[in-house]
Amino acid sequence: MIHYGNSTQEQKEIIYSRIKSEIYCNINDIVEGNQWDFDDLENYYDDECVHCGKKEEEECECFEATPHEVFEWYFVSEQLADKLYAIGQPVVRTFSFKAVWGRTCTGQSIALDPTFWEIFQESL
Ligand SMILES: [Zn+2]
Repeated sequence: MIHYGNSTQEQKEIIYSRIKSEIYCNINDIVEGNQWDFDDLENYYDDECVHCGKKEEEECECFEATPHEVFEWYFVSEQLADKLYAIGQPVVRTFSFKAVWGRTCTGQSIALDPTFWEIFQESL
């Protein structure tokens, strides 16, 4: 798996350009203080048990899914929203918010998140 830390400059440029073309803008100011309907949030829950950290398929007896903690909201392209959804990332696709991604990282460049390296791995 190629990630930021072991990638070449050329591979970083590919990731930068995909991020630039498929993530449109941060919408934290729109979402914050809004009555966000969490029923519209797909992949709201992680597949890890909040009690023991086991994955759902391992069937612990105490299973209770952990909600994702979203720090940042972004308008993204619809095709990127599909890819984010497929790898378990929180997304919202309602009429008023066409395609929104909930980023569960913060405090670093998006290019450092493993998320986009995973999604665009095959194009590197
Ligand atoms: Zn458990």
